[in-house]
Amino acid sequence: MSDHYTFETKLLHNKHKYDPATGAVSVPIQHASTYHQENIDSFGKYDYSRSLNPTREAVEEVIAELEDGTKGFAFASGMAAISTAFLLLSQGDHVVITEDVYGGTYRMVTTVLNRFGIEHTFVDMTDLEAVEKAIQPNTKVLYVETPSNPTLKVTDIQAVSALAKKHHAWTFVDNTFLTPALQKPLNLGADIVLHSATKFLSGHSDVVAGLAVVKDAELAEQLGYLQNSFGAVLGVQDCWLLLRGIKTLHVRMKHSSGSAFTIANYLNNHPQIKKVYYPGFEDHPQYKIQKEQASSPGAVFSFELHTEEAMRTFVSNVELPVFAVSLGAVESILSYPAKMSHAAMGPIARQERGITDALLRLSVGLENPEDLIKDFDQALKKTAELQII
Ligand SMILES: *Cc1c(COP(=O)(O)O)cnc(C)c1O
Repeated sequence: MSDHYTFETKLLHNKHKYDPATGAVSVPIQHASTYHQENIDSFGKYDYSRSLNPTREAVEEVIAELEDGTKGFAFASGMAAISTAFLLLSQGDHVVITEDVYGGTYRMVTTVLNRFGIEHTFVDMTDLEAVEKAIQPNTKVLYVETPSNPTLKVTDIQAVSALAKKHHAWTFVDNTFLTPALQKPLNLGADIVLHSATKFLSGHSDVVAGLAVVKDAELAEQLGYLQNSFGAVLGVQDCWLLLRGIKTLHVRMKHSSGSAFTIANYLNNHPQIKKVYYPGFEDHPQYKIQKEQASSPGAVFSFELHTEEAMRTFVSNVELPVFAVSLGAVESILSYPAKMSHAAMGPIARQERGITDALLRLSVGLENPEDLIKDFDQALKKTAELQII
């Protein structure tokens, strides 16, 4: 319906702009778990809400359109979406997976899927030679997360998808960090896009949700079958909150990524900061790829202080961001990957990935960036004082 409009307009003016039954300018929350059937021989479109529910269907159609896919699926969490997608695999299959994958996905692959005979190899996905070397005859999935968490490495989605196709494997891309507002992996050759919709898509730190989107009809059929079989579907209240969050996705991503650029540059020039990981810097190793495949470097970056003690002083003095797990909200969120998102990873695996004990991750919210800089400035002054004493 809305193919010729731009992304931001499509967020508002799509098939679910109003309810055709009443004209209501908000998708109705349909609580019914079951649906009356008119006769014994032909059932209606809806029969039981795990299989299909009108409110969930609305958010699934909206995300499918935004990702330029054909079919969307809503799950009870990002991990439910990711885990259900992994159910496409069978015993004896193999996954090539990015080494700095989200902690929960790492846990799923290394401690759960392995018990079902699904093997994996971690690789640096930015090294295409290493990716190809890791592919085995039984490889079914190349699993990408870009930019990666928390060191913001950028994977060339088009190149990895081409490799996957050559070896008859699927490409899964976790698009949580950028959302379709900034990056559309299906258009770059990916087979499944996965989201923790808990983050930017919902955007207000008040929903746990997951989404998957595909383009291919046969794959859509298989994933739909698994969504219904496994049953980790998103509840209707949360579907509604997610639909509401998505309406402001564009303005939120625009403001937050603009601020992230300003703040990352400020930190990069600060003597108390050892290193900033941000794909918006021209000297970022994959700056060019990021620029080609996404319309912005996004609103999340990481930075390392000189010592763990300095990091602790900074965190205890900073006032504005909430100090919490998660990202992608209206309020800025500061997190400590070593003990939060990557706690499921052992200390050696963390060190190998650059997730040091002095590394912090910032998800920039909708505050005025100058206020955030002012706040960071006073906290970094305390850090500097500590070193003089
Ligand atoms: C949060 C997150 C997940 C997991 O999503 P949940 O909604 O917490 O289950 C997966 N991938 C990335 C990149 C995330 O940030």
